[in-house]
Amino acid sequence: MLGLMQDRPLLISSLIDYAAAFHGDAEIVSRLPEGHVRRSSWREVGEVSKQVANALAEWGVEAGDRVATLAWNSDRHLALYFGVSGSGAVMHTVNPRLFREQIVYIINHAEDRILFFDITFAALVAELAPELTTVTTYVAMTDREHMPEVPGVPEGVLLCWDDVIGRQSTHYDWPEFDERSASSLCYTSGTTGNPKGVLYSHRSTMLHTLMAAARDANDVHSGSVILLVVPMFHANAWGTPYTAAMVGAKLVLPGPHLDGESVYQLMKAEGVNQSQGVPTVWMMLFSYLDEHPEIDPHELGLRIAGTGGAALPLSMIERFDRDFGAQAMQGWGMTETSPLCVIGRLLPKHEGLSQSEKNQIMLKQGRGICGVELKIVDDDGNRLPWDGKAFGEVWLRGPWIASGYYRGEGGEKLDAEGFFPTGDVATIDPDGYLQLVDRAKDVIKSGGEWVSSIDLENAALGHPAIAEAAVIGVPHPKWQERPLLVAVLRTGQTATREDILEYLAGEVAKWWLPDDVVFVDELPHTATGKILKLELRKRYRDHELPGVSS
Ligand code: ADP
Repeated sequence: MLGLMQDRPLLISSLIDYAAAFHGDAEIVSRLPEGHVRRSSWREVGEVSKQVANALAEWGVEAGDRVATLAWNSDRHLALYFGVSGSGAVMHTVNPRLFREQIVYIINHAEDRILFFDITFAALVAELAPELTTVTTYVAMTDREHMPEVPGVPEGVLLCWDDVIGRQSTHYDWPEFDERSASSLCYTSGTTGNPKGVLYSHRSTMLHTLMAAARDANDVHSGSVILLVVPMFHANAWGTPYTAAMVGAKLVLPGPHLDGESVYQLMKAEGVNQSQGVPTVWMMLFSYLDEHPEIDPHELGLRIAGTGGAALPLSMIERFDRDFGAQAMQGWGMTETSPLCVIGRLLPKHEGLSQSEKNQIMLKQGRGICGVELKIVDDDGNRLPWDGKAFGEVWLRGPWIASGYYRGEGGEKLDAEGFFPTGDVATIDPDGYLQLVDRAKDVIKSGGEWVSSIDLENAALGHPAIAEAAVIGVPHPKWQERPLLVAVLRTGQTATREDILEYLAGEVAKWWLPDDVVFVDELPHTATGKILKLELRKRYRDHELPGVSS
């Protein structure tokens, strides 16, 4: 027997309609590529999203057609999120930090018809345009005054946002269609091989949104003032543009201005009480504060510093707590998982624990979220116990987890039970806290045992002189691989190899101690802000470890 409730499709357009109607005055503040700050609101973003939909209709963009962006976080990008998907087209956020060849590949592979871009990327677009085979219209997301020259784009094909969007009607009736229709597309950066497209649906996005706002998830509500540093071209900015609309939160969008000073000033000016970004961004903020000891970050009133994409180090949890009075917390997931799957929050039973005991729990990636099924398996695919000790690859199943990649790239992904492989290796404890040991490809195998690079990096970051740390395995004649610590020192700090090793000796098992420490000025990062371990492994493949003669 079927239920007798209305069968209304779950569509992204409903989010912006709700935000505009019920939280119309809530602000959307954008620091633009042009330099100035623009103040908008959910009401205005709602109107602009309808102007976008009208423009797409005028250009003959049809349901399922892909519309690309090369853009920073801004109110216009936000209006595109809702206008493109709401109209039935597919919002394709392209990561501008990828290599040029990858961007060309992605846009051609997606067969994007329209490309919206920030003026920061005008030179990039000029370079790419001759190789883009499907794009027929280029829109610079700016006004007449700031319109860039884009020599690669033929006359008449380059349009100005204010001209083409600004003149459209703000009336538009969102179409109704199957909630399983594609809504947005995001390619994973993939350290090897071509990037692969993850194609979200309206239904997956809506279910992810409904879950992400919860108190025990991102804890987002109408009183939230969210600084969204995670780029809107990275896994839909962790879904926050949608979640913020659903609850009418104020959004603060930093555009390309991600240096410590800009981020701090924006947080202060806008009363930010929640922030979301990869740990590297907060490291930059900390460096700025190191140089300005006169600033007391307590003045911000920051409540939650949300991180993801890489492990949240203990030193970061402690610093947010001590200097900001804020709780740092992490989510874990990937582009393929919308991305939220587990989130690091305390349980009521942890109330009475000391701060340092609580911090140890917050170091774990977190507990599963209702809607996502998790399993860890051994090499033969057998489920491993949730005892906090057994570790194996994490597989996931749920309505916002990918079933495969766009156009079947990468082949069949799901196992017989319908679970998706993450390539991450973790333990799960009896409370359901997942703790990442490593990415399968970054694991360090020493004498038949595993050394967790994540744990070692975390320990190293506890040393006051270390700003950023990466641990990789380098070949060793006896042990197969041994850990090498590659570290960046904090501005104005000094430390020797011996200092660091002595410190680590008090933090980790003896056989985990890195065989060597190298100091570098900076570490290589991927387009999504992760440390590029592959590159480091290449660089230090022949590194001579002390005590090993070549
Ligand atoms: P990319 O396209 O660069 O892989 P993703 O955001 O899809 O970007 O990366 C997902 C990966 O990031 C995960 O598989 C995991 O290895 C890592 N990751 C995400 N969140 C965390 C976290 N909280 N702690 C440690 N690693 C994380």
